Amino acid sequence: MVDLHGQYCRIKPEIDMAIQRVLDSAVFVKGEEVRTFESELAEYLGIRHVVACANGTDALQICLMALGLKAGDEVITPDFTFISTVEVSALLGLKPVLADVERGTFNLDIRSLKKAITPRTKVIIPVHLFGQCSNMEEILAVAEARGITIIEDVAQALSADYTFSSGTSTKAGTMGRMACTSFFPSKNLGCFGDGGAILTNDPELAGTLSAITHHGMRIRYHYDLTGVNSRLDTLQAAILRVKLKYLDEYSMARRKAADWYDDALKGLPGIETPERSPFSTHVFHQYTLKLHNTNREALMKHLADKGIPSMIYYPVPLHVQQAFRYLGYREPDFPVTRELCGSVLSLPMHTELDEEQLQHITKTITEFVTRRS
Ligand SMILES: *Cc1c(COP(=O)(O)O)cnc(C)c1O
Repeated sequence: MVDLHGQYCRIKPEIDMAIQRVLDSAVFVKGEEVRTFESELAEYLGIRHVVACANGTDALQICLMALGLKAGDEVITPDFTFISTVEVSALLGLKPVLADVERGTFNLDIRSLKKAITPRTKVIIPVHLFGQCSNMEEILAVAEARGITIIEDVAQALSADYTFSSGTSTKAGTMGRMACTSFFPSKNLGCFGDGGAILTNDPELAGTLSAITHHGMRIRYHYDLTGVNSRLDTLQAAILRVKLKYLDEYSMARRKAADWYDDALKGLPGIETPERSPFSTHVFHQYTLKLHNTNREALMKHLADKGIPSMIYYPVPLHVQQAFRYLGYREPDFPVTRELCGSVLSLPMHTELDEEQLQHITKTITEFVTRRS
């Protein structure tokens, strides 16, 4: 699905030098590189503060911890996404509330979001799934009218641009009160292990977030808050500083591969190519098809036989997961998510896909769907 080795080989001298620099400094935790990476990422995104931490799930948890919420306060997240948003809400004693997504963009559906709001709703976490932004203009309007805090989950859409109806553009992750992201190796900006960060324009909040990542400590051995231990390694920061310089190039390579897929697959029987949102650029963390009257398992096997991986993101809606049965959702809730879980298929998507690979993949899919019909 990804080619991390190929990507490393193209920038090996720079990466190796960065790693060697950290080894020579022997400052493995809280090194200067971490501070520098935070300010370089802040500058790239056009946001005031970046607080690095150990992974994207921690980033979400720390955002929620910084808000001083009470047990039972409600946090709305989409039903069709990775588990982190629901998991951290539950861990903190908050109540995860789910909303359905739009068929076309896979992102939060505004009508379903509005239906999920109650007087106890304190936070909405829009997840910018697969590489393009949720409808932030509407979500911000819904939230502002009710005093609800927005935390963007930008783990799959870092570097995407959002354009408001006024014409102003901004980076994904700069629109909410806070945003969290992940530097897991396969993410669009990935390190060589785990990593994450929180973004905010609020200096006071940035101080609180930073304290929480260091055991709630502002002055050494004085603990003002209940915190956690969640740090980005200096080595990872040094690697991310190199890769950040290539992020725009990486996004372009992903978009080019997506265009190729679109051209080759659009109009094939039973295959629906991904819809692009009118207000967001797409950085294609995933290239995700929807299949109709097509045997997904048989297609996956046909691809695998030709050496092509494919994955189902995500096979099971969050509302029917064993761990969240207690929330009381039932099978017919969130019909769009249910339909998507049964029909989506993600193809290989990364920065190193060349024409030969793309041709092999699209020819293999074409073969399968035309042979059948
Ligand atoms: C990857 C991911 C996360 C979690 O990041 P980790 O670094 O793996 O903890 C959270 N939300 C979304 C949407 C993700 O894709």
